[in-house]
Amino acid sequence: MQYELSEDNQRIRDIVRRVASEKVAPRAGEIDAKAEYPHDMFDLLKDLGLFTLPFDEKYGGMNSILSACIAIEEFGRVCYNTAYLLVVQWVPFGAILAGGSEDQKDRYLPGLADGSLRGAFSTTESQSGSDVGGITTRAVKVDGGYQITGNKIWCTNSSVADFVVVAARLDGMTGKRAINFFIVHKDSKGFSIGAPENKMGARGIPSCPLFFDNVFVDEDALLGKPGEGFGIVMEAFNISRPIIGARGVGLSQGALDHALAFVRERRAFGEQVVDFQGVRWMLADMHVQIEAARNLVYKAAASADTGLTGKALAMEAAVAKCHASDTAMRVATDAVQLFGAAGISADYPINRYFRDAKVLQIVEGTQQIQRNIISRYLVDGV
Ligand SMILES: Cc1cc2nc3c(=O)[nH]c(=O)nc-3n(C[C@H](O)[C@H](O)[C@H](O)COP(=O)(O)OP(=O)(O)OC[C@H]3O[C@@H](n4cnc5c(N)ncnc54)[C@H](O)[C@@H]3O)c2cc1C
Repeated sequence: MQYELSEDNQRIRDIVRRVASEKVAPRAGEIDAKAEYPHDMFDLLKDLGLFTLPFDEKYGGMNSILSACIAIEEFGRVCYNTAYLLVVQWVPFGAILAGGSEDQKDRYLPGLADGSLRGAFSTTESQSGSDVGGITTRAVKVDGGYQITGNKIWCTNSSVADFVVVAARLDGMTGKRAINFFIVHKDSKGFSIGAPENKMGARGIPSCPLFFDNVFVDEDALLGKPGEGFGIVMEAFNISRPIIGARGVGLSQGALDHALAFVRERRAFGEQVVDFQGVRWMLADMHVQIEAARNLVYKAAASADTGLTGKALAMEAAVAKCHASDTAMRVATDAVQLFGAAGISADYPINRYFRDAKVLQIVEGTQQIQRNIISRYLVDGV
């Protein structure tokens, strides 16, 4: 698969790069330090009209995963949390677009698109993160709707969201068909949200536990037909997964930017640190890894945009996510090293990149899960 950046892709990159440098970068340290939800950054993204970027023109988007990746990369280069604001809006959007009825699309998508609604997405429970099929939250069919009971953890954006797309096991079904998604509104009786986690990374966007105590939802809260929602939504997430890799590319590039600026200024043994050959080789290795990650992410995104689906796309997207997240961790680690003691100090930005990089190796399918997908395809062809 060959890809080329179109004029639209380049236009998005130029706009986002300028906004990120002028408006986002100055806020990044404070958002991380205070671990406060950045309402001003949400409003900025809203004004830029970026909440539908990967999706259909019908909703004001560009219908381009590649453009979405480029935007995430440019924001993520200066501020993980601002890039994350886009992702947490796109995930419920993508789920409802893929699995929702026309009525659900009409009810939720315009609001998510213009920022008047915020969503969250929840599968993880205390005993099942990677193993989504192990969830125990239950939905029971009752007159006029469903009754949901159970607990979730790590639901990002939930405390600011108007609704959460929640995975629950539908009574009477087995296997993957048993897992279904329900749209639960924040004011539903019996639904409550616990205190946010005190996280080492991704600190600006709250991740909270959710509690469902016999929460009644109407029949039309179910995404798709009973037994069908899970497969449809997971296939849609394969298509958008390159976006997760793009976060790694942006984070790595930002860490290299900071490291390069630091070693240009720093002196040791009567020389500029940037002039030591050992340091130059580290910088070169960081660049090589970032370029490789960027090309994998863009290639997977371009494949998604040109209609690749199924296992072949899942494989490409897993390769991109896996390499980009590992690159983020390696490059951020080397960048901290190049800062010396300053890399450990909260007075410098680089430790934020290091902490955020670790998150990338765990979220949206851990690195081991990505390797499971890759090796299964490689060895067994499925
Ligand atoms: C910042 C942050 C935000 C998050 N936001 C959300 C959210 O919005 N919604 C949501 O639902 N969840 C969210 N999560 C949860 C996230 O999706 C899970 O943490 C992730 O899927 C891993 O699950 P786990 O933590 O239960 O680890 P486990 O699945 O228990 O895994 C523990 C370890 O075992 C490894 N492992 C597990 N299974 C295998 C296997 N088959 N082969 C090899 N190794 C394996 C894992 O890779 C990991 O190293 C978030 C997590 C974080 C850190």
